[in-house]
Amino acid sequence: MTYLTKSPWILHYDGSSCNGCDIEVLASLTPVYDIERFGIINTGDPKQADILLITGSVNAQSISVVKQLYDQMPGPKVVIAVGICACTGGVFRHCYNVLGGVDKAIPVDVYVPGCAARPEAIIDGVVKGLAILAEKEKAEKEGKGKAATAAPPAAEAKP
Ligand code: SF4
Repeated sequence: MTYLTKSPWILHYDGSSCNGCDIEVLASLTPVYDIERFGIINTGDPKQADILLITGSVNAQSISVVKQLYDQMPGPKVVIAVGICACTGGVFRHCYNVLGGVDKAIPVDVYVPGCAARPEAIIDGVVKGLAILAEKEKAEKEGKGKAATAAPPAAEAKP
């Protein structure tokens, strides 16, 4: 991961999971699997987060919270759906109040399947997310560079 230029921070949110995937997320963060060795830290503040890690399906109550958390995160940002419930709604997809996977609310960059998703799969998903984050950062910088060197607006252009 030589492309990493900073320590990415993760925001973990449970959309409506059975907590099976949340336990695996915690296992990924704590010393046995130790995702912190990549400089990754768990934060409770969306304004500090680069990666949104969501478990569970999205339902009628949680959809507005998911959207608010996503909107509060500064860009560039990456969303990782952890577990089959977050990917598609999983075993709960036909429940009366379940709307489906996380992509019913916000754009998802990485899907990590499994019930529950294993820590190895979660870490693999985060590493894929970091590569996407680096691409988004690069595209944003190039976009800003182009905007700075772009021709002035017509009103200011020389005749
Ligand atoms: S994927 Fe399985 S373990 Fe994870 S929240 Fe859904 S039912 Fe629970």
